[in-house]
Amino acid sequence: MKKFVLVMLVVLMFVGIMSAQDEVVIGFTMDNLRLERWQHDRDIFVATAEKLGAKVLVQSANGQDGVQLSQAENLITQGVDVLVVLPHNGKVMGGIVEEAHANGIPVIAYDRLLMDCDLDYYISFDNVRVGELQAEYLLRYKDNGRFFLLGGSPTDNNAKLFRQGQMNLIQPLIDAGKITVVGDQWAKDWLPQEAMKIIENALTANNNNIDVIVASNDSTAGGAIEALMDQGLAGKVLISGQDADVASCQRIVEGTQSMTIYKPIKDLATQAAILAVSLKKDIFVRANGTVDNGFKAVPSILLTPIQVDANNMMDVVIADEFHTMEEVYKNVPKDKWPK
Ligand code: BGC
Repeated sequence: MKKFVLVMLVVLMFVGIMSAQDEVVIGFTMDNLRLERWQHDRDIFVATAEKLGAKVLVQSANGQDGVQLSQAENLITQGVDVLVVLPHNGKVMGGIVEEAHANGIPVIAYDRLLMDCDLDYYISFDNVRVGELQAEYLLRYKDNGRFFLLGGSPTDNNAKLFRQGQMNLIQPLIDAGKITVVGDQWAKDWLPQEAMKIIENALTANNNNIDVIVASNDSTAGGAIEALMDQGLAGKVLISGQDADVASCQRIVEGTQSMTIYKPIKDLATQAAILAVSLKKDIFVRANGTVDNGFKAVPSILLTPIQVDANNMMDVVIADEFHTMEEVYKNVPKDKWPK
């Protein structure tokens, strides 16, 4: 894959130089920039596109469907060549595809799928696999007991795929009577405050008797861990995550969060920028799969997620320069840092 990206970059830079007069303009509409990960996505996407001689107009909708729709319409009116969408709500934003196509603009769904529409491309990670990796890790340490299922945003198709992956492994153990699900709730907009409230209530309702929290990402894990801390339970309850946010990586090496999933955003954002420019230049980009969005099997590029805990933090997250050792081990005494 790395070689492919390099080749594409060189080809596109060459094509870009040969046709400098028709600069590609990409419109990128993003759900929000609240979460650490989306800022990384934006920065890498823009830097790569600019390297290829393209210009990117980025808009953030602050998690509001109406705002995102009108921002996307605006980008279409401005005549962008390609529209890239990270939707807050995949169903609502699916509606923009017809309008973009009516104006000759292809649409790429970024990280989250656009539903029920004639989408051109989807680029993301294998999100069912993300859920499987979360569950696989937790079950390696505890395959029985009282589990709380903490889902992500109900308007995000990814949240459902993560849950699907988790249940691929957990359901058989529920059926076998080994695992009891003591609660199942979804955190609005993936907000840590929502997750914190949910887990506070769950702990009260269960007299603090919860063994495992299946959290779908790091922001919700963060909220849940605050609730655990208040009860002196942080580090005693197994809890998953996803994104390798710096705060989560710190919690992992400090022992209050069990694991996260590292998704090399560098690869996602770089390949998405290459794909966007290629669409305009009529260069064919091979998908490695399809994902059904309710309307069609959408050509998809799905990248591989990686399980991370304290043991491979150095080899994965730090070696990949996603965070530095100083950032991750900030609160750990220096003599305990890995050599
Ligand atoms: C992304 C996750 C992210 C979550 C919250 C999901 O769609 O795939 O990486 O944690 O949204 O923003």
